[in-house]
Amino acid sequence: MLKKLPQGAATFCGRGLAFIHGTHIVMKVCPECSQWNAPEAADRGVCGWCAYVPSCEDVEPAVVFDAAA
Ligand SMILES: [Zn+2]
Repeated sequence: MLKKLPQGAATFCGRGLAFIHGTHIVMKVCPECSQWNAPEAADRGVCGWCAYVPSCEDVEPAVVFDAAA
């Protein structure tokens, strides 16, 4: 039961940074240790520093612009 992932830039509960293509998560910045990930590890969706594996349940669309109230 995969929930529908947001596409493009995303975060993990507001932390880290990832880009999602279909069901493929490229984790650019780790939400655990806040390190920029190594390209090879990023492409596998794991952190090359702390081995954190993001949960699909935590993925949220990245808010690029705050809508002016
Ligand atoms: Zn990490």
